[in-house]
Amino acid sequence: MKNKLKRIILLGPQGSGKSIQGAVIAKFLGLAEVSAGQILRLAIMKKGRFSRELKAYVRPGLLVPDRLVISLVTKELKKPVYKNGFILDGFPRSVHQAEVLDKHFSVDKVFNLDISDQEARRRLSGRLVCRRGHIWHIIHQPPKKKGVCDRCGLPLFVREDDRGEAIARRLAIYRKKTSKLLKYYKTEGKLVVFDGERPIKKISREIVAYLNKYAG
Ligand code: AMP
Repeated sequence: MKNKLKRIILLGPQGSGKSIQGAVIAKFLGLAEVSAGQILRLAIMKKGRFSRELKAYVRPGLLVPDRLVISLVTKELKKPVYKNGFILDGFPRSVHQAEVLDKHFSVDKVFNLDISDQEARRRLSGRLVCRRGHIWHIIHQPPKKKGVCDRCGLPLFVREDDRGEAIARRLAIYRKKTSKLLKYYKTEGKLVVFDGERPIKKISREIVAYLNKYAG
């Protein structure tokens, strides 16, 4: 299949299912998926030059300054693994970041997984991740073996920013800044909206139906 959709951005509040649906899209299109949050968390873990500074933003759920996040994400996206395209989650998070991204890559479509703050809060409490960024949920998407990632076998834990005040802060920032991107991409004719509150498998089916129709 000749793929017309090579670079897809995933938008949606925290807990909207970007990571899970990103994996579905990536598999279907044979493209690599990448998450800005995961790039930042790995940079923190590697304890490199900006590790402490990054941590000071990520831990409480604040946006990392553009001067750091833009260079880390664009550098990652220029790696050979993304030469055929990418499914990108968590970037851009502001209109400025979108404008910068447009200068480096042409984005084909932007999928927005639409959910309410109430639903986002419900999903974030109980969310489990592994070090590689695979996501599970105690109730809605439990791993087969308790405490272990089905995809890579690594232990699961609760992210520091998936607790208490950090959740509320991240959602507020999303509504204030990131949601402005919906208008930006709508104007560019790239926005596709999915109802993210329905069961995960139904949304995946809807996304795959869309890809079947438009990617070929
Ligand atoms: P996420 O895994 O997408 O929820 O991102 C986790 C955290 O990484 C966010 O709460 C921010 O602190 C930081 N982050 C991720 N993407 C960006 C971005 N595009 N701009 C600024 N900060 C970001």
